Amino acid sequence: MTKTVDNKEQEAATLASFIEIYCRENHKTPSLCAECADLLYYAKKRLDACPYDPKPKCKNCQTHCYAPANRVKIKAVMKFSGMFMVRRGRLDWLFKYFLSGKK
Ligand code: SF4
Ligand SMILES: [Zn+2]
Repeated sequence: MTKTVDNKEQEAATLASFIEIYCRENHKTPSLCAECADLLYYAKKRLDACPYDPKPKCKNCQTHCYAPANRVKIKAVMKFSGMFMVRRGRLDWLFKYFLSGKK
């Protein structure tokens, strides 16, 4: 398996975790709600189609391939879940997120 594939799989797993936390804490549904499931599906599709190798962090990307509405949503998810993990002392997850991929 190439490093790019490893990084994409790690980023997909991180995205899923962040969206799950956001949904659980904000939408209070027993499992991922339809809106968050759609966002995760969309984000994974963008990740699969990313033209960069090595891939930069999406927040540092000049292309910004997300549709504006989904970009706003994913930013809110990353901010909320990032702060949630800081409050829970889950710095290991944040290091994984911020240190994976090219800055
Ligand atoms: S925003 Fe940029 S780095 Fe992120 S998936 Fe789209 S093209 Fe790739
Ligand atoms: Zn949700």
